[in-house]
Amino acid sequence: MAIQSPTGFNDMLPDDELFWEEFQAVARQVFGLYGYNQVEVPIAEQTELFVRGIGEATDVVSKEMFATFSGENLKTLLDGGNLKSKSRLSLRPEGTAGVVRAVVQHDLVPQGGAPAKLMYAGPMFRAERVQKGRLRQFHQVGVECLGAEEPTIDAEAIIMLMRFYEKVGIPAEKMNLLINSMGCEKCRPAYREAVRAYMDQHADELCETCNTRKEINPLRAFDCKNDGCKEVMAGAPRISDHLCPDCKAHYDQVREYLELAGISYEEDYKLVRGLDYYTRTVFEVQASDGVGAQSAIGGGGRYDKLAEEVGGRPTPGLGFALGFERCKLVLEACGKEFPKAAKCDLFIACVDASVRSAAFKLMQSCRDAGVTAEMDHQGRSLKSQFKLADKMNAANVAILGPDELANGQVKLRNMATHDEMLVKLEDAVSTLLATE
Ligand code: AMP
Repeated sequence: MAIQSPTGFNDMLPDDELFWEEFQAVARQVFGLYGYNQVEVPIAEQTELFVRGIGEATDVVSKEMFATFSGENLKTLLDGGNLKSKSRLSLRPEGTAGVVRAVVQHDLVPQGGAPAKLMYAGPMFRAERVQKGRLRQFHQVGVECLGAEEPTIDAEAIIMLMRFYEKVGIPAEKMNLLINSMGCEKCRPAYREAVRAYMDQHADELCETCNTRKEINPLRAFDCKNDGCKEVMAGAPRISDHLCPDCKAHYDQVREYLELAGISYEEDYKLVRGLDYYTRTVFEVQASDGVGAQSAIGGGGRYDKLAEEVGGRPTPGLGFALGFERCKLVLEACGKEFPKAAKCDLFIACVDASVRSAAFKLMQSCRDAGVTAEMDHQGRSLKSQFKLADKMNAANVAILGPDELANGQVKLRNMATHDEMLVKLEDAVSTLLATE
């Protein structure tokens, strides 16, 4: 059997690639209005960055990262040797840690400087169980804003995320915006202990995984899909009752700004998100159509401690990422028309082989003038050249035969109107440009 792509790693064929381009262009346009500029950071980083940044106990880091080795380093490992930290690399499971590392490395937020507003787009890798909307290589567009703590930043990021979805074609009524506050290092530890104590009281009603989570990060139990755990966690202490005055004021202001902008949202005390670095505001957008069980089409939050975790000076931060493939599923369910690859303005059909040089020359003049042109490259009969032109959806067909060529002419047929005209060979390109 021919070799297939690995499970969960999909090819992006020309039509997919066209839409991915369009998707990024819309993001650049919308996020650009809010002052975000695009960066590109490496696909692989030192594993240590993700361990320190995302958190060792998270599913993403403990189970889902793809480690990557040079052949030589792999041999060292297989021989029982150890690698230096610098040589232990992983494919990025998300974009935030790498962007924050870059901000720290290049000092993009000098003390007293303006916030760094950055956007990125590209593939991410997680060894997850593959299902509809859940891949091992998937594409995200994301933003990170470093250096600003004010709730205006949280609100504007959420607003621009919702604006992006609408601009790309997802109707507002198909989406649900969930928000929550995770508190800060002052109020969260006590809250986490309160949840752990509550879970201790209900240990025999919780699944094994939640009992393990209880010891490492009890808040993750809010994410459990098990019905019994859901029921227990519905009665757990709520973060909203445990926020310190500063976190409460920050959260109230974020909501106020969202309301000012007319953004509807739902508060969800269960929203804790899977990564350890979040503080204060967290949010997620869920779609109602097309994505099945994987309804989250984007999400993010504030991470005021992350820059320090990766060795930088204290720098507040906030970001989000949205999933390209899941958005595409939602858009398919909404009936969106996607761009189609390979538009062809002119197909040049040769009546016989004697005109091929003239056809080749005409094809090249078309392309040089910005007109997409094609001809047959497989020795097809005239009839099958017409079929090929149809298949390519050619807007016009030029029919070039020895008689026409002897008179320095070519016949142009408009495929939509079926109008035909005989034009001078040297006027063919300008005629096509005039009728476009
Ligand atoms: P996260 O980094 O987990 O917050 O994910 C942000 C967004 O990326 C999600 O809302 C999804 O739309 C998308 N996403 C995350 N994991 C996957 C995956 N395994 N396959 C496809 N899309 C994903």
